[in-house]
Amino acid sequence: MRLFLAMMSHETNTFSNVPTDRGQFEARNLHYGGEIVEAFRGTGTCLGGMIAAAERRGARLVPSVAAAASPAGLVTRDIYEHVKERMLGDLKAAGAIDGVLLDLHGAMVPEGLDDGEGDLIEAVRRVVGPEVPIAVTLDFHSNLSASMVGGADLLHGYKTYPHVDMSERGVEATERLLDVIGKRLRPTAAVRKPPILPPLGSQGTARGPMRRLYDAATEMEKDPKVISISIFAGFPHADIPDAGFGIYVVTDDDQALADRLADQLAATAWTHRHEFVHTALPVREAVAKALAAEGKPIVLADMADNTGGGAAGDGTEILRELLRVGARSVVVACLWDPQAVAECVKAGVGASVTLSVGGKVDDRHGAPVRVTGVVRTLSDGRFVHKGPMARGLPGRLGTTAVLDVNDVKIILISYRWQTLDPEMIRFVGIDPLDHKVLVIKSTIHYRAAFEPMAREIIEVDAPGLSSSNLARFEFKRIRRPIFPLDPHTTYP
Ligand SMILES: [Zn+2]
Repeated sequence: MRLFLAMMSHETNTFSNVPTDRGQFEARNLHYGGEIVEAFRGTGTCLGGMIAAAERRGARLVPSVAAAASPAGLVTRDIYEHVKERMLGDLKAAGAIDGVLLDLHGAMVPEGLDDGEGDLIEAVRRVVGPEVPIAVTLDFHSNLSASMVGGADLLHGYKTYPHVDMSERGVEATERLLDVIGKRLRPTAAVRKPPILPPLGSQGTARGPMRRLYDAATEMEKDPKVISISIFAGFPHADIPDAGFGIYVVTDDDQALADRLADQLAATAWTHRHEFVHTALPVREAVAKALAAEGKPIVLADMADNTGGGAAGDGTEILRELLRVGARSVVVACLWDPQAVAECVKAGVGASVTLSVGGKVDDRHGAPVRVTGVVRTLSDGRFVHKGPMARGLPGRLGTTAVLDVNDVKIILISYRWQTLDPEMIRFVGIDPLDHKVLVIKSTIHYRAAFEPMAREIIEVDAPGLSSSNLARFEFKRIRRPIFPLDPHTTYP
């Protein structure tokens, strides 16, 4: 039994002016052949789950390419074509294979293409022909398309946000693929796309509308005829026609059942669409509330400056306000500014420096802030995620400096990565529990690890390209009408 294995993952924020080029992939993941298995075995990722399940079931993996980059603007044509050609070339060279496992995102927009994943899946299908089954894991933020559904036999979307079930989905995709190869299952799918564009801030699965929908789906999955149900909240910052909410129900050879369940879930989502509207506090109010709160740490969630949603990661508005009011015992985690890091390196540990931090990528995340502070630590930016998300996965932030501005400690990083793990604070010698205020640049993912330790979480409506305030964006290509951009949208 031989299974072809490949990964390409990117969440593209089409409002970002930062191109996602080859260097961005090299900074995160660009692995080939057998080194993929070595890099991902035992990690809490889809690939980690796929590798574990294949090894347990005695299936041989034929690993090809694994490419991932931090979310940003359009994926450049050259790196997209490179990965695609490598994948298809390896597939042709692999000879007879029994099935294909792909770990994809679902919101990747390469230059000149709306739907990167649909394009990849269809290309793989053309090589393997109609008989070899293809199973695909997709991110919760996938903007589900007809090409993805038509090209693959099985789609397995993450069911959680924060994404803590990636490895589970990798296992599931592998096991169901083996069932299809063994003719024990005949996947038959139904898809619904009610016109809803949920902002990231209301997509969390711990509570709210997505919890309600997944509770219903979990009940439905108890029927042995149901193979799996994926409810995609979608990625609203990819301004493409397919952006937004999507439902995928796959049954064992029962189209009527798939259609009925998909209709029920779509109706539930539509009935509760108003719960997807998100509100957060303006910067001044949020900072004042944090400083007045009891206990510590108080998390100020800089939801709009989440590099995991393609924002710059160098937003300054919350920092500026904290400095303006003279706040102390503050950690800002983490601010992407390679130029400021270089200045700190040049000055050296213990030196006092005056420099501009943040606000350099574009004019959507606040202007640079001029600060004078002491360089406390410098490091190579290597840490290991301790979870619950991505547990065991090595992280690379590039050269990292801690700049202390009157007890406002700014963690400056050189590689873009969302602050989803407290290890990103601890590895530079700072104890997050010891501080009054933690500014965390993340929309939802930080909750998995920070919610248990935070005294209070305050969501902030600062400017930025991952803002849940969708009125901040000028959409041009998304299908209209769509709720909540068009409040009077009707469905079905
Ligand atoms: Zn996601």
